[in-house]
Amino acid sequence: MSARRPDRMSTRAVHAGLRPNDDEGAVSAPIYQSVTFAAPDTDTLEAINTGKARGFVYSRVRNPTVMAAEQRLAALEGAESAVLFASGMAAVSGALAPLLQAGDEMVALPDIYGVSIRYFNEILPRMGVTVRWSASSAPEDVAACVTDKTRVIYAETPTNPLVRIVDLPAISKVAKDAGALLVVDGTLGGPMNQSPLELGVDLLIHSATKYLNGHGDVLAGAVVGARTHLRGVRSMQPAHGGVMDPHAAWLLMRGMATYPLRMKQHNATGLALAEFLEAHPAVAKVHYPGLASHADHALAKRQMTDFGGLLSFEMHSPQAARHVVDATRLFAIGPSVGGVESLISQPGNTSHYSISPEARRAMGISDALVRISAGIEDVDDLTDDLTQALEGCS
Ligand code: PLP
Repeated sequence: MSARRPDRMSTRAVHAGLRPNDDEGAVSAPIYQSVTFAAPDTDTLEAINTGKARGFVYSRVRNPTVMAAEQRLAALEGAESAVLFASGMAAVSGALAPLLQAGDEMVALPDIYGVSIRYFNEILPRMGVTVRWSASSAPEDVAACVTDKTRVIYAETPTNPLVRIVDLPAISKVAKDAGALLVVDGTLGGPMNQSPLELGVDLLIHSATKYLNGHGDVLAGAVVGARTHLRGVRSMQPAHGGVMDPHAAWLLMRGMATYPLRMKQHNATGLALAEFLEAHPAVAKVHYPGLASHADHALAKRQMTDFGGLLSFEMHSPQAARHVVDATRLFAIGPSVGGVESLISQPGNTSHYSISPEARRAMGISDALVRISAGIEDVDDLTDDLTQALEGCS
């Protein structure tokens, strides 16, 4: 039986990481809301510090509740290890910190989350790292950016907001040929829909704020992968500082317990809304990889088991796009994705707000584009709401 079957995943989502350090039989992992863990004596403290004994000393270094959540996430991904961070952005910077130093280069694929673009363009260069932007996700364009200084190739799949899919085995080959590591932000796919680590990705990043937690109440990030690849991430994290709080880790664990159930609904609703919008005369184009009309449909079918809850669509004018967003009643207007509640926004006002309008247009993000994160409400209520919001638009 494949380790990736959803039924196996549902079991792991509930059971993995349940008892980090507790023999009392609690069916909910205890929250160790403690900064310091007292050692019985100095010898033991030294043994823990040097890794010769198991234990906890200080929560910026290691905390039992955070560790339990890391075990659950690693189990969901079928990975050896996971390191949690205080946010998705802390995970992006925490994954790259051990891999890059002054003089090194990173090749970035296009269509990256707006704030990651800021990090690559504004912060990495200040640290002496050159970021080369590939003209497209095609392996030959990515390979053309590789030099003997390339240490990392960075991609995101699926992408936001056009939900493009990156061919991971092909880009992994480019990375291997270059002697570089492939780092991928897989937030919008998630372990239910794709297995990037099985397709040649070395370090997988999540904004666990999104589908993994799923309730819009926790900021969280994660880096997942083989222990050897995570060694640097874990050892630098206490100095990096962006660690997860134990209470947030507990909320994330609770979110992950229902992740497979919720994700099934996000997938079903995402497809239903995409099909509904594609058939609507007021809508010019729909971007959703589960649609046969999507540029990456064949690749998505090869690489993913389902297509997620994020979709975007183009109206015939920026005014119509603004109207639809404002006219919906059930959809909340705002950023983020992957929560139980459906969201709607124009990417120029949310995920790509920090990118200039010209750069946005060059990325194919027009002012007539609307993005939806499908929640888990009744799909008929969502289509009824879109029907009334689209009324009068042409
Ligand atoms: N990566 C992707 C694909 C995202 O969509 C986001 C946030 O929207 C992030 C990373 C950053 O995550 P966070 O908001 O948890 O810092």
